[in-house]
Amino acid sequence: MSTMNEKITEELRQKARQLLESGRVAAFLGYASGSVPMVMRPFVARTPEDADRLEWNSFCVLNLANYLPALLKSFEPPRRPNEPPPQGPLPKVGVVATGCWSRNMVVQIQENQVERERLVIIGISSRGMVDRKKVQALIAHRDVTAVKEGDNTLVVAGPGFEEEINRWDVVRDNCKSCVHPDPVIFDDMIGELKGERDLPDRFSQVEEIEALSAQERWKWFTSEIQSCIRCYACRNACPLCYCPTCFVDDSRPQWVGKSIDSVDTAIFHILRAYHCAGRCTDCGSCESACPMGIRMRILTKKLQKDVLQLYGIEAGMSVQEPLPLTTYKKDDPQDFILTESLKGEKK
Ligand code: SF4
Ligand code: SF4
Ligand code: SF4
Repeated sequence: MSTMNEKITEELRQKARQLLESGRVAAFLGYASGSVPMVMRPFVARTPEDADRLEWNSFCVLNLANYLPALLKSFEPPRRPNEPPPQGPLPKVGVVATGCWSRNMVVQIQENQVERERLVIIGISSRGMVDRKKVQALIAHRDVTAVKEGDNTLVVAGPGFEEEINRWDVVRDNCKSCVHPDPVIFDDMIGELKGERDLPDRFSQVEEIEALSAQERWKWFTSEIQSCIRCYACRNACPLCYCPTCFVDDSRPQWVGKSIDSVDTAIFHILRAYHCAGRCTDCGSCESACPMGIRMRILTKKLQKDVLQLYGIEAGMSVQEPLPLTTYKKDDPQDFILTESLKGEKK
């Protein structure tokens, strides 16, 4: 009997094949197997035959929204930076999306990085993706040569061993605390919508750190980032980081040093987190991409919690919703602004 993921894979291939055959899309963005177990790579199907290489399983961790702006642009005629965009309809791209990826697509639409009418979104309600670092820790970091996924288990095999793992035990932290598993925008669905999850403790990872003293929080932060090698895989995996020149790469002016000096590394992480404030969907792509196991997502989750408390907004829930930190209203609360006279009063 087929597993849930095998059924999804079959339906996904069929839908992608139909879209490509009919010419409704010029390409379909999904996942194909990587060259090692537990790694799925983003894959662009360009012909109906390519659609048979698409796959769906618990290791599809990289947020596909990240690849959409460049993929859409690749179908546009070349133009100079100041030339107006081409007139008339442009080719569409198909893409598969769970809750958080669809929300990142909403943010990209709000920020004019992609156009909704150029996307054909196949939605899948998410069951949570697996953290391969958790799997490796459970099997004492032995070499893994094959993983077979059931509906609720993973059978992990390597030289001289085979172990069955409960799937939920190795689901990523962001997926365990996710309350929006359903895609918020889609043109077609595979399977049913699941509805919101009720998780009163979804910010518990953040609250544990908030409960510490300022010194202890700084100690946590500096120890968490001390093994950062500044490879920028976290930034590169994030659909919010589409700046043509990132502040870390700029050399005129050089905003931050490029070494793994602890102050430079701290500045990188703090600034990047603030750049994602009010925009981050907690998709976990950054954390999944990190080769050093750094939990930088806790920083963006803290800002997600603050934005929810201050503005009542979660990123990407609706295209019509204002972006909390780039929308100005005359009656915005302004008590955070310290004027000279107020500074005196607050002392
Ligand atoms: S870290 Fe900031 S500057 Fe760099 S790409 Fe991301 S959003 Fe842009
Ligand atoms: S900062 Fe990380 S969790 Fe947030 S949207 Fe980017 S990749 Fe996803
Ligand atoms: S992916 Fe990890 S090691 Fe690389 S820059 Fe980001 S936090 Fe540092």
